[in-house]
Amino acid sequence: MSEEMYDLTIIGGGPVGMFAAFYAGLQELSTQLIESLPAVGGQVTTLYPEKEILDVAGYAGITGQQLVDQLSGQMREFPITVKTGETVANVSGTLGDFTITTSAGVTHSKTVLITTGNGAFTPRKLAVENAEQFEQKNLWYFVPQMTHFKGHDVMVAGGGDAAIDIALMLEPVAKHVYLMHRRNEFRALPYSVSRLAASSVEQVTPYLAQNLTAAEGDRITVDLKEMKTDNHRLITLDDMVVNFGFISDHSVFEDWDLQFEQNRQQVAVDSSMQTSVSGVYAAGDTASYDGKVALIATGFGEAATAVHAAAFAADPHHRGPVHSTSVHLNK
Ligand SMILES: Cc1cc2nc3c(=O)[nH]c(=O)nc-3n(C[C@H](O)[C@H](O)[C@H](O)COP(=O)(O)OP(=O)(O)OC[C@H]3O[C@@H](n4cnc5c(N)ncnc54)[C@H](O)[C@@H]3O)c2cc1C
Repeated sequence: MSEEMYDLTIIGGGPVGMFAAFYAGLQELSTQLIESLPAVGGQVTTLYPEKEILDVAGYAGITGQQLVDQLSGQMREFPITVKTGETVANVSGTLGDFTITTSAGVTHSKTVLITTGNGAFTPRKLAVENAEQFEQKNLWYFVPQMTHFKGHDVMVAGGGDAAIDIALMLEPVAKHVYLMHRRNEFRALPYSVSRLAASSVEQVTPYLAQNLTAAEGDRITVDLKEMKTDNHRLITLDDMVVNFGFISDHSVFEDWDLQFEQNRQQVAVDSSMQTSVSGVYAAGDTASYDGKVALIATGFGEAATAVHAAAFAADPHHRGPVHSTSVHLNK
């Protein structure tokens, strides 16, 4: 059983945890990053590796996987211990000596940064009785390889930014893309709605899917009912991609000895990103404060703030560099 002591343990290897690990490297903290999935990248790798991200500073457009690859390269500039396929099952102790228990063993850490995002996430499913039989054949909750949709008739279901993003991403690949939503208005960035309006994506609103049946040639026919009327539309498709959001499971914290204040299942933090427990910080989607905007860009800033605070908590005499140039110039 390993009993190493780290300056900082980062729990969760999504984009925010990865950037925090790089930033901890700049501060010369001995750092471990623990991720329960087999690969780092969090929601970006798991849910939308091929989607184009437009709102990360410095990139006019970058796919999810490219961003994660960039973050991996940046993180590996420093000797960070990256552990994948290990779930943190318990955290106990106090500032200076937290005990981190994972599926693979026990380690110790002076400080802890929680970047567990939305915890374990599962998609909200299509509420149609026989939907399950079409899953992974015609019905998708995560976008698999884009090449799968080449020349296909595809319907995206959902009314948020992610649904519009997916529809626009499929537009140049698929034969025809429908976007179905139960309201006439989309809950999305004005920019995304304008791009949608200018695209060839056919908007099918306000409709709700009522039934799926198998159709010739491994296709499916979806029976759509218009909201507040008895009108129906039958559309035959190769694929349906449902994006009704995700149900997050934060029960991961429930079994920890360490208990901190939560705010609607997120971790409450102060302006230094510290939780209600001294030496324990949170950043990214899991961190909660007034006015929080859950974006990768905000998570990156929170990670830098949290790592600075953790560095001083781990060692009050810490005089880490504030700018990356001071490290690189000294290399
Ligand atoms: C379809 C979609 C499109 C999006 N598009 C954009 C966009 O264009 N721009 C943008 O800024 N944001 C976008 N987002 C939001 C963005 O993905 C999140 O804000 C971002 O992923 C948050 O990063 P994170 O590192 O905080 O958490 P996550 O990405 O959720 O990563 C958390 C990681 O922690 C791990 N973990 C959880 N519990 C444990 C545990 N106990 N032990 C070890 N590991 C654990 C999880 O496995 C996960 O890998 C989108 C989200 C979705 C779903």
